[in-house]
Amino acid sequence: MNIIFLGPPGAGKGTQAQIICQKMGIPQISTGDMLRAAIAAKTETGLKAKEYMDKGQLVPDAVVIDIVKERLTGEDCQKGYILDGFPRTVEQAQSLGTFAKIDAAINLDVADEVLVARLSGRRVCPLCGAPYHVDRLNGETLCKVDATPLIQRDDDKPETVLNRLKVYHQKTAPLIDYYRSEGKLMNITGSGSLEEISAEIFETLEAIR
Ligand code: AMP
Ligand code: ZN
Repeated sequence: MNIIFLGPPGAGKGTQAQIICQKMGIPQISTGDMLRAAIAAKTETGLKAKEYMDKGQLVPDAVVIDIVKERLTGEDCQKGYILDGFPRTVEQAQSLGTFAKIDAAINLDVADEVLVARLSGRRVCPLCGAPYHVDRLNGETLCKVDATPLIQRDDDKPETVLNRLKVYHQKTAPLIDYYRSEGKLMNITGSGSLEEISAEIFETLEAIR
């Protein structure tokens, strides 16, 4: 199955996508992770993307579309995949429709107040990308997987968080109607516990498999 995870920044897309991908044995394709890897590798794409990302703006459609198009040709994508953080504009969704067949769009629905708290408290492992939250770290500062010191993403700083939410409402929220009109939208309330939410997503996907 080819699945899209929609939802505002901080809704838990990355965390949930990781859980569902492991369960289904399909790759998680995160444009945010791929762009951060490009920045770390100092590629031309990475340098261009950084300017936008640091301000909480979207990277131009053409750049991300090329990255995703290339990635989906991978051998590991032929059994299915989860797109996490792509598409983020109607233009990206229209383009995706020309080179991929999407089966479902899971929308994680979370209120803005909750998002600000989640994003500001978020910490990530710069090595493996594992996400954490200060409320659950109990003072721990290292990644549980590889003991790398956790960091706060530059774009999780308060000023940028508010801008990312604004960009979400303007550019990405219209995708909810876009996929609803295609009959692919599955809405999930993203405010329960991590386990409750992943169970609900899994059941929703099983029902259409
Ligand atoms: P994320 O890790 O998904 O929160 O993405 C972090 C940042 O990467 C976003 O704020 C954007 O600047 C950029 N980005 C990731 N995915 C996309 C996309 N599909 N379109 C445009 N920009 C993106
Ligand atoms: Zn790690």
